[in-house]
Amino acid sequence: AALCEARTGRVSFGVEPGVVGLADAMLADEVDGALDRDEMVLHYQPKVHVRRQAIDCVEALVRWQHPERGLVAPGDFLPAIERAQRMERLTLWTVTRAIADQRRLRALGHDLRIFINISGHLLADPAFAERVCACIVAAPDARIGFEVTETSVIRDPESAIAHLQQFDRIGVHVSIDDYGAGLSSLAYLKQLPARELKIDKLFITQLTSSNRDPLIVRSTIDLAHALDMEVVAEGVETHAALALLSVMGCDMVQGYLISRPIGLEALAAFLSEDRHRAATQDTRASFTRLA
Ligand code: C2E
Ligand code: MG
Ligand code: MG
Ligand code: MG
Repeated sequence: AALCEARTGRVSFGVEPGVVGLADAMLADEVDGALDRDEMVLHYQPKVHVRRQAIDCVEALVRWQHPERGLVAPGDFLPAIERAQRMERLTLWTVTRAIADQRRLRALGHDLRIFINISGHLLADPAFAERVCACIVAAPDARIGFEVTETSVIRDPESAIAHLQQFDRIGVHVSIDDYGAGLSSLAYLKQLPARELKIDKLFITQLTSSNRDPLIVRSTIDLAHALDMEVVAEGVETHAALALLSVMGCDMVQGYLISRPIGLEALAAFLSEDRHRAATQDTRASFTRLA
């Protein structure tokens, strides 16, 4: 109930910052209960390396398996989690679960780096940085990446950059998520210890039907490569888009064309069956037709 109220925007209205309102406290209890009852689930979406037709990494995306409402998408509950000040708890749970899932996949012969989305509030928080690093360092076999948006860096660039450097030093790969869709600043981009840049799906959806999107995407790929970063295109839904991205030198693709975000069992099956190869091979055919 508190969650639904939160979604109408009534929670903590009129309460000074730092003071937790009644509805917020209820909401926090509800989120804690969901975590205690293990109702959160991680789905994984592969990133496919275009030239090698291989999957080296996946992105973890959280869902809430709600007892009455079914599988709830992150856009519908993360804002409430943020207001209830439970984002740190959720993210530490996510990192821990991802490391456990990574071990299960490794036992099946699939060694993947798992990328986790980090919210802007947490990126600036030194206590979070310390706790999440402790959690990862305690698992020497963990191969983790963090996806952060430029908008979340720009809130408090000094702390964000310091934390990103700390993450990079312990072997966490930093990826700039939703590039081009938020507050971009080339001044920050050149300072970020990021290995990967993800072009927002905003520029990918109409890649083969718009005049401008291909120009923006191509110059972004060139810029990222000049800065020594690998490029991922998110939201790839068609063979034509994949073929064009391949010609432009995009390193990795992610999107419904390859796979939707799927549960751990389905991911293991997907990797074993090499289904992504089929998808990229179909693209070779459409690529030949384009040429
Ligand atoms: P994001 O990190 O940019 O994730 C990409 C979103 O696009 C995902 O939605 C994914 O399901 C969707 N997507 C992937 N391929 C395609 C495609 O080909 N076409 C279309 N139309 N959509 C595609 P999802 O899972 O609903 O996640 C939405 C956002 O929620 C994420 O955006 C991320 O910002 C946030 N999020 C998800 N999980 C977490 C988490 O554990 N922690 C935090 N802090 N944020 C999370
Ligand atoms: Mg992401
Ligand atoms: Mg994204
Ligand atoms: Mg996005």
